[in-house]
Amino acid sequence: MFIGHFGVALAAKKIVPSARLGTLLLAAQFLDFLWPILLLLGLEKVVIVPGITAVTPLDFTSYPISHSLLAVVGWSVAFGLAYYMWHRSRRGPVVMGVLVLSHWVLDLIVHRPDLPIMPNNPARYGLGLWNSIPGTIAVEASIFLIGIALYLSATRTRDRTGNWALWGFILFLSIIYAANLVGSPPPDPRMIAWVTLAMWLFIPWAYWIDRHRRVMGESAR
Ligand SMILES: [Zn+2]
Repeated sequence: MFIGHFGVALAAKKIVPSARLGTLLLAAQFLDFLWPILLLLGLEKVVIVPGITAVTPLDFTSYPISHSLLAVVGWSVAFGLAYYMWHRSRRGPVVMGVLVLSHWVLDLIVHRPDLPIMPNNPARYGLGLWNSIPGTIAVEASIFLIGIALYLSATRTRDRTGNWALWGFILFLSIIYAANLVGSPPPDPRMIAWVTLAMWLFIPWAYWIDRHRRVMGESAR
C-alpha cells in the first residue's frame, strides 16, 4: 500500500491537531521508511517476480524486522514513548503508536500472504487485494481522499504556500502512484531500496505544508 498510508497520516491531523503532519507521516509510514535501510544493510530481502500480483512485482521474501507483527508492535510502542518524551500529552503518543500499527493492518489487506506474525515463524498472512487493480485503487484512493478531506477540515492555510505545498504534495503522490501502476517493474532490488529511501523526502515536505497552515480555531497570524 502506498497513498493509503499517506491518507491515514492526513486523517490523523483531525484527531491530534497539535501534532505536525511530518511526524504523523513518519509514524504512518514508519515501517516503509525502515524497510529500504534494512534492505541496503542486507538484513531484509525482496525479489522481483513480474506478475506475482496485478499491482506490484515485489515478492517480500523476508522482512521480519520491519514487517512482522511482533516487531511492529515493538516499533509502535517505541514510537509512542518517544513522542511522549517530546510532547507530554495523552492522546498524541497513543495516536502515534496506532499509526505505526495501522501500516501493518493496511498492508495485510493488500499484500499476498507474505506478512509474518512472529519474526522467525514461517506462517505468512495477507488478504491479497493487490491481485485486483480496480479493487486496490478503490480502497487506497478512498482512504487517501478521506484523509485529504479530514486534513482540510482540520486546518486552514496561513498563506499561499500553505495551499500550493499541500496540493503539490497530493498531486505528486498521485502521479507516483499512477506511474507505479502502469510502469514497468524496477530493474533490481537495490534500485527499489534507493527509490524507497527517497520517500524520506516527503517528511520535510509534510512539515513544510503544516508550517504554512494553521489548525482550525487557532488564531490567524
Ligand atoms: Zn509496508
